[in-house]
Amino acid sequence: MLEIIIVLSLKWSESVCSQPLRTFLIVFAVNSTLILTTNIFYFKSLITGMPIPEEDTFLSKFMSSLHRTTELMDQLIMIFGFLIVSQPGDCKKVAPVLFAVSLQIVTLRFAIWILPFFLLTFVFCCFGTFLMLASKYKKWKDKQKVMEMLDQVPRYKYQPSQTAYGDAVIETSAADCAICLAPYEDGAYLRILECKHHYHQECIDQWLCLTPSCPLCKREVLRRSNSDSNV
Ligand SMILES: [Zn+2]
Ligand SMILES: [Zn+2]
Repeated sequence: MLEIIIVLSLKWSESVCSQPLRTFLIVFAVNSTLILTTNIFYFKSLITGMPIPEEDTFLSKFMSSLHRTTELMDQLIMIFGFLIVSQPGDCKKVAPVLFAVSLQIVTLRFAIWILPFFLLTFVFCCFGTFLMLASKYKKWKDKQKVMEMLDQVPRYKYQPSQTAYGDAVIETSAADCAICLAPYEDGAYLRILECKHHYHQECIDQWLCLTPSCPLCKREVLRRSNSDSNV
């Protein structure tokens, strides 16, 4: 406000141009002074330590109406100012200081208006990203947990000439995986569950990441298995 008074005083004679910048600045300065007055009236207890006036006094009602009116006027003045500085004219060359001050006022005010939307958008985006990362982290932790438990399920290397694997038996006629339905190849890694059902290691690991039970008999696998692996 002080800036406006100084600029208008010093540049009054140079301020005649095609855009009504002088009118805008004067109206803005007067309205801002009124807003400041009403604000001081309401917050003078903070400044002077005096109690805030009773709400039903004439002065209080008047100040309240004045405050609402000046706040509304402020927004209308800003729109007026925006229209002035955005329209083509010679003020930028004829009255550069006035134009710069007017542009600064309008830009700052629009920035203040827009800032909450930017903040909200930023918070919304951050929140979405946070949820996505939290979800990914949870999936990763779950998978880690499953992989740790899978280490407790015995693993064997299949050999066509061998039928005994730990305390389980795999007959040559039944040497195939019930998940992918493919026969076991020589050297393929298998897992044999406590229920004695056997599968390709890769097939059953993927299955157990989704469902912690045997695909054939539905017996729970991961919590009950505690044998060491045997290659
Ligand atoms: Zn398989
Ligand atoms: Zn089973």
